[in-house]
Amino acid sequence: MQDTFTHKGMRKKLVAILKSKGILDANVLTAINKIPRHLFMDSGFIDHAYVDKAFPIGADQTISQPYTVARQSELLNLKKGDKVLEIGTGSGYQTAVLLEMGLQVFSIERQNELFKKTKIFLPKLGYRPRKLIFGDGYIGLKEEAPYDGIVVTAGAPFVPKPLLAQLKVGGRLVIPVGDKSQIMTVFTRKSAKEFDKKEYGEFRFVPLLEDKN
Ligand code: SAH
Repeated sequence: MQDTFTHKGMRKKLVAILKSKGILDANVLTAINKIPRHLFMDSGFIDHAYVDKAFPIGADQTISQPYTVARQSELLNLKKGDKVLEIGTGSGYQTAVLLEMGLQVFSIERQNELFKKTKIFLPKLGYRPRKLIFGDGYIGLKEEAPYDGIVVTAGAPFVPKPLLAQLKVGGRLVIPVGDKSQIMTVFTRKSAKEFDKKEYGEFRFVPLLEDKN
């Protein structure tokens, strides 16, 4: 597993592209500048790792586009030490970004093949989430709730109620909502029963599926 000067150079360029597309959060940009994204893709597709595109990671899933990862991480609006729940571990790249940002990370994946692969892979790079769970993200992870932030990295046909219920007051749920394409939506918990809702444009994700397999 190598991270060369060429990779580092390509990463710098990617960070510049993300800035030009409007990513402002320095913590997010620093994390992306550090993480060897090519190692999260099968046999290190160097040509693809640092272009701003999604890419297949097996089991019909994709590693999200860097801009999307950056935007979702930024919209969480968290500070070091905060607790975050990620739905859709996938390759573990977004998980690594959240860990580099100094967050306590819990992550759920419903695809067993990906789950097993990523659970072994992340510690090899020194990334240690608080918990990686094989399970169904629609129900969240109640035993570790409440969270300062929850990020859903697959397209949700609707907003799962358990995810709203597992937010702290002041906490945020960042979730792409829709079928064919999704609207990035942020819910901020104002009180036990009140949520503020804001929308941040159109994105395309693989679907959030029910149950695990
Ligand atoms: N964060 C990932 C994105 C992977 S794509 C990355 O950076 O690579 C979305 C992931 O969500 C896929 O791995 C898919 O298997 C997973 N997923 C879909 N529905 C889910 C559900 N209900 N619960 C947990 N994970 C789910």
